[in-house]
Formats: sequence, structure tokens, C-alpha cells
Amino acid sequence: MKEVLIATNNAGKAKDFEALFRPLGVQVLTLNDIEGDIDVEETGDTFEANAILKAETVARLLGKIVIADDSGLEIDALGGAPGVYSARYAGEEKNDEANIDKVLQELKTASGGERNARFRCVLAVAGPGLVTETFSGSCEGVIHTGRQGSNGFGYDPIFFVPTLNRTMAELSAEEKNKISHRGAALAKLKSNLPYYMTNAGDLA
Ligand code: IMP
Repeated sequence: MKEVLIATNNAGKAKDFEALFRPLGVQVLTLNDIEGDIDVEETGDTFEANAILKAETVARLLGKIVIADDSGLEIDALGGAPGVYSARYAGEEKNDEANIDKVLQELKTASGGERNARFRCVLAVAGPGLVTETFSGSCEGVIHTGRQGSNGFGYDPIFFVPTLNRTMAELSAEEKNKISHRGAALAKLKSNLPYYMTNAGDLA
């Protein structure tokens, strides 16, 4: 079976990618499957810069083609925050529950269009023999007034998808991937998978 290495330690992202790659017959490996601790500091100020940084750093360390995901939530009432700081919005411990509490608190008085938000995802592919490439996707939604649903990860319980009348956390992995920022970015990358394989051998 073909394997793809995703440069992430985030179990929630890994689950999304497993569901995304399953129909392609490709098995997902993450940094949790690799020996040693690899944690790339995200010093960029855009999703694209951080995705490239993670992909190129891990590809160099392992000598393999890798895909990195940098993603986050942009909320209109907060001028696009938490943005690239989504994972650590409430502190360096990267606590999803604390991040949600902080957003709900900040949006307490926000109404109507102020609650509009979008998830963004940039995927970067880097590795031996490749010019690094990026693919981006987004997904529009509204920040709910409280948590709803228990699937997914991160901000999913408060990200309401008007077209489905449910939060992301109320969707199955398959339903989420059909409309998500990650699914949209991967759909663009997908047509290049054979190119990566013929130019640099197996993906992992
Ligand atoms: P990073 O890409 O590792 O910097 O972190 C991305 C952060 O954005 C996650 O830790 C979540 O807080 C948030 N995020 C990204 N994608 C999703 C998603 O699909 N659902 C919920 N939260 C997400």
C-alpha cells in the first residue's frame, strides 16, 4: 500500500487526513509514527509560510517527501484572529477547550455578520527532487454561541456550517472532508500525487 507522510503531531488533523486518503488507497503516517521527536517552531506570520517551513524542515530531516498542513480560524469580529495563532490562542499549551472558551468570551456581544468566520488550510509539499508547492482551501461558517457536537477537533464544536445547519463537530469525518478547508486544499493537491510519485519514488 502506498504511504503518505503528513508532517504533523496533531491527532485531529491526522484523523481528517486518514479519512481523506482512505478512498485513494493511500495510508497516512504522521510524525507520531516516526522515531524521535520532531516539532517545528511555527515562526511564520502566514499559513503559507508556516506550511512551507514545516514541510521543508521535516523533508530535510527525513530525506523524504512530506505534506505539511498549516491551518486556522479567522473570525471577522476579531479582525481575522486567531489566524495563524489558532492552536495557541489561549496559551502555549495548545489547549482546544481553553481556545474555544476564549473565543466565546470575546464574541459574547458580537451579533449577525460579526460572527462570520472561515477555516483556512494551506498544504505544502516538499522533498528531495521537488520544488516546494502549496495548495490552499477555505470553508465559510459562523461562530456558534456555545459548543455543539463531539466529533472533530479544535474549534469544530463552535464552527456552525449554515449550508448543513450543523456545527463541524456534528458532522462525520466524511461529511466534514467534503466541505472543509482541508478537503478543499487536498482536492487541489490530489491531481499532483502521481507526479510526486514518478519524480521522487514512493511518498514515504
Ligand atoms: P497549526 O496548523 O498546527 O498551527 O494549528 C492549527 C489549529 O487551527 C488547530 O490546532 C485548531 O485549533 C485550528 N484548526 C485547524 N483546522 C481545524 C479544523 O479542521 N477544525 C477545528 N479546528 C481547526
